[in-house]
Amino acid sequence: MLNRSQIEEVLEGLGQPKYRGTQVLEWIYGKRAGSWDEMSNLPKDLRDALSSQYSLRPLKHVLTKGADDTTRKYLLELGDGRYVETVLIPASPGLWGERSDRYTLCVSSQVGCAYGCRFCASGLDGFTRNLTAAEIVSQIILVEELSGEKVNNLVFMGMGEPLANYRNLVEALEMITADWGLNIGARRITVSTSGLVPQIKKLAELRQQIRLAISLHGPDDVTRDQIMPINRKYPVEELMGALKVWSEKKKQKITLEYILIEGVNAGVEQARLLTERARGLNAKVNLIPYNKVEGLEWVRPSDGACQSFRRVLTQGGVPATLRLEKGHDIDAACGQLRLKKEGEKKQEPS
Ligand code: SAH
Ligand code: SF4
Repeated sequence: MLNRSQIEEVLEGLGQPKYRGTQVLEWIYGKRAGSWDEMSNLPKDLRDALSSQYSLRPLKHVLTKGADDTTRKYLLELGDGRYVETVLIPASPGLWGERSDRYTLCVSSQVGCAYGCRFCASGLDGFTRNLTAAEIVSQIILVEELSGEKVNNLVFMGMGEPLANYRNLVEALEMITADWGLNIGARRITVSTSGLVPQIKKLAELRQQIRLAISLHGPDDVTRDQIMPINRKYPVEELMGALKVWSEKKKQKITLEYILIEGVNAGVEQARLLTERARGLNAKVNLIPYNKVEGLEWVRPSDGACQSFRRVLTQGGVPATLRLEKGHDIDAACGQLRLKKEGEKKQEPS
């Protein structure tokens, strides 16, 4: 899986004329060729040379959980035998500000995560490695192939911290949005981050109008410090500063994600402060009742408490959704992506 300049470089190195680049791009991204051999308008010796060096499918499907019309979680194997998960969510209209369409794909950006948020399954086993741009893009291609569905919206809310894999993220975004690539509109793509301040400011300079979601989960340092170690590095005020930069540059609404955890961040005072923060940024808020993670002791507040929390926001003039969880039953809800030991055993599927 290569991007345009890499393809052009490779072909030039093989002494090929320029128009070959266009042909190859059309095969890879337009016709979604799974092998070089399918590229019938390329000379056979060129196809052989390319297939001996570059794989068009760097990910292998291992298993799918969930069925048609429900959330489907795909376990995919990387070239080095590690795994990532990708979640296809049907009819998830406009949650992150995208247009409402039938399918949203939640992609992973890393194997594991180094940030160790205390409520999150993905961080429990630490960080293993970054995904390459090709591995990020291939999640989309492979899931479209496996499901037969077109991915309309994309969220970087799977495993990993996308902004900690900045270079590959930006390269993947190019392959995803380019007209020679997957041609998915930037406004349909949401990058979620736990709050890496320098990278947020850098990403604000990006040409593409991608959307930004922030895993806030606490409106002040005392609350946030308890559950997100990254807050010690980039405290709330600093994060707010970076978000101001973002909204001034991008002129679009930011989404604040806020997990509700009983006795930690779900009190009325915290709701009021969150309302102020969101108003200051002209942001909207997605409230997510905490999803149980095996091995973690946090508790989700009652539905009534979640609704009261939301009411404080909406009465304060902040658009707030209380997220109807999907994928709960197959551990595929956001924050439940984790390569469990049982997942690792899938190396030798029985
Ligand atoms: N690292 C990035 C993107 C991946 S996390 C980030 O943190 O934003 C995707 C979303 O799932 C985040 O908002 C995260 O905070 C949320 N999440 C993590 N654990 C969760 C849990 N146990 N219940 C509900 N949401 C969770
Ligand atoms: Fe990493 Fe995001 Fe999970 Fe925090 S919430 S541990 S940053 S994946």
